[in-house]
Amino acid sequence: MPVLYADIIVDISAGNLDRVFQYRIPSHLNGIADIGSQVMIPFGKSNRMIRGFIVNMTSRPDYDESKIKDIDQVINNELAMESQLIRLAWQIRKVYGGTMNQALKTVIPVKRQVKAQVNRYYSLTQDEGMLDAYEKRLGSDRRYKTRMELIRRLKTEGTFSREELLNVCHVSPSVVKALVSDGILVENVTRQYRRPMGQLMDTGQPVVLSPAQSQVVREICEDEQHRIHLIHGITGSGKTEIYMELIAEVVARGRQAIVLIPEISLSLQTVSRFYRRFGDRISVMNSRLSDGEKYDQYLRAKRGEVDIVVGPRSALFMPFERLGMIIIDEEHDGAYKSENTPRFHARDVAAWRARMSGAKLILGSATPSLESYARALAGMYALHTLNVRARAGSILPNVSVVDLREEFRQNNKKIFSRKLRALMEDALKRGEQIILFLNRRGYAGFVSCRSCGHVFKCRHCEVSMTAHRGGRLKCHYCGYEEPLPRTCPECGSPYVAAFGMGTQKVEGMIADEFPQARVLRLDRDSTSRKDSMDDILNRFRRHEADILVGTQMIVKGHDFPDVTVVGILAADLSMFSNDYMAAERTFQLLTQAAGRCGRDEKPGQVVIQTYAPEHYSIRCAASQDYGTFYRQEMSYRRLLSYPPVVHMLAVLAVGADEGRVQACITALAGAVRDFCREQGFEDMVIVGPADASVSKGKDVYRKVFYVKNKKYPWLIAAREFMEQHLRASSFSRDVGLQFDMDPMSMY
Ligand code: ADP
Ligand code: ZN
Ligand code: ZN
Repeated sequence: MPVLYADIIVDISAGNLDRVFQYRIPSHLNGIADIGSQVMIPFGKSNRMIRGFIVNMTSRPDYDESKIKDIDQVINNELAMESQLIRLAWQIRKVYGGTMNQALKTVIPVKRQVKAQVNRYYSLTQDEGMLDAYEKRLGSDRRYKTRMELIRRLKTEGTFSREELLNVCHVSPSVVKALVSDGILVENVTRQYRRPMGQLMDTGQPVVLSPAQSQVVREICEDEQHRIHLIHGITGSGKTEIYMELIAEVVARGRQAIVLIPEISLSLQTVSRFYRRFGDRISVMNSRLSDGEKYDQYLRAKRGEVDIVVGPRSALFMPFERLGMIIIDEEHDGAYKSENTPRFHARDVAAWRARMSGAKLILGSATPSLESYARALAGMYALHTLNVRARAGSILPNVSVVDLREEFRQNNKKIFSRKLRALMEDALKRGEQIILFLNRRGYAGFVSCRSCGHVFKCRHCEVSMTAHRGGRLKCHYCGYEEPLPRTCPECGSPYVAAFGMGTQKVEGMIADEFPQARVLRLDRDSTSRKDSMDDILNRFRRHEADILVGTQMIVKGHDFPDVTVVGILAADLSMFSNDYMAAERTFQLLTQAAGRCGRDEKPGQVVIQTYAPEHYSIRCAASQDYGTFYRQEMSYRRLLSYPPVVHMLAVLAVGADEGRVQACITALAGAVRDFCREQGFEDMVIVGPADASVSKGKDVYRKVFYVKNKKYPWLIAAREFMEQHLRASSFSRDVGLQFDMDPMSMY
């Protein structure tokens, strides 16, 4: 048996992960010591025994063999949180690539003190003799006028805060310092810790679960066979209530729960429903927390002060020792995919963590991702379906599809179709509210014909091509190019152009058409200030505006009782984004957007404006028909070999020198092709290389190719090969590689 060496961290916190120490695994500990194991090691000159964790194992030592000490013993404590998180990191690295260090930094929080808010207050010394003497010394010297004034005011008013001293009394910081050191001013310091707790909002009476909801709860609790459950329930079918019931059950058994919700949907309204039910046994994580505040939540969880954490992707790594359930709401959401190396998907990592801790994983969505639904149909996940809205009297809205080509032919070149305009007028007259939704998700400047709706697509890949300078159309998937025609090949119309529209432009159009309406806008620009998303949504809910205009941010999990009209201005923007998930994303967004209205007793009207009214993603969203959409979309994926029918690994090369990036990616594609042949990996398909469509920053070039196969382990092997290959090549100095396993995000 070969000698093994272990890299060990002794202080497990993100700041110290780079400091690993190498030890030998003595033969009697072979097979016992493993990734994540807690070990005792002799440390430093004195060889005192300290505790550490194994984060890596190798057969070749990095140091002089004679200087490496032996691990003393392995403490196999399966429950140790650190061990679990390290094993999770190992798994993440194995599947998604990158270094162990990057993986560890993903699962282990930054150790940071909570910054206390420090308040300083000042009052005069109690020693009157000293004060008298001081005042005499200042005398009538004009230079000391502010000090005299300050003492006079303090005598009558008692105490000033530091801010008052500086800003109201106009005393300089150096004078304050001098007065304190002379003993004339007495400084009092108080520290306040902010603990993020939701402000409780009254969101109505607690509900009694409907028979359909109770049945799902029962099925999940009693199922001994499946670890993973998919709840497919239309918007408003009461999934959130089901989650809370499940959590209550988990907590009653003395175990803990993690609830993942996309950041965008983590509005105060959603969060307060959880607070109302579970009080301060709950911890809410969001990006508004500082590192210190996040670490404070982490410690609370570790000390067992909370049972439930609600948060985005990163909440998955809460150090719960008795984890009983992980819930992923809106499981189809793209935000569950990390954009940084390692580019993990929270759904996969959640499944691993659930298996490690014997917990159940619950996925919920009105529009499940194709891969989850496919697994559910295959019996790998238990499937639970809810077809009706939970609240009595709440019905699905009336959806109509407007053909924008027809509007164009009727000489209506405005962004509002005649139908939408009429509905908006009526709603405004009745004092009801309107949401206008601009579908910009994944929008990448596709080119289409305004009069017949023809979209220019790559003849090889069926994804939309993008216009580039010099009048060329490019496919960002396979690299195919062709000149941009002057007229439409379908109908001969000269109105061929890149499609584009912004929320600001829409706001301007509303002002022209409905000058009396009050408008709020919600998009990335208007929410750059961290808290303002809640502000805008709350103002709209309080009816401070009649119309809300926004991007995909407004379709997520917000409840607006007075909204009776939802207009989707350009449904096509996401439909022709240049990747294979475009139709799926369009269907999801439209279905969710349509679900925003008619949530109360007032019936809703949804208008979908599109150039492709016959496209199945639009038709199925209009009829809220997930089943038909799923079948159509799967046959497209099968035909062109896209996930989830096959697995797909995107390989992205990034660098400042375009020639080098091109040379690197070409060489790599060749090398991996040879590798797969040698390994006997059959049916490995390599597509590309091509220019990646989104170039971040000006002088960075990004090229991409894709490797496709049905066997996930083969793709992992190919990725490991490429990582090593690059490291050994001269490209490693100036070209960076990123890997992305499907579900692939867009480039
Ligand atoms: P989803 O998460 O599926 O969109 P929610 O759980 O948010 O659905 O429920 C939608 C609305 O219906 C909410 O306002 C909720 O309070 C209400 N609701 C859910 N379940 C019930 C129930 N059993 N009885 C009455 N109202 C309910
Ligand atoms: Zn045309
Ligand atoms: Zn192509």
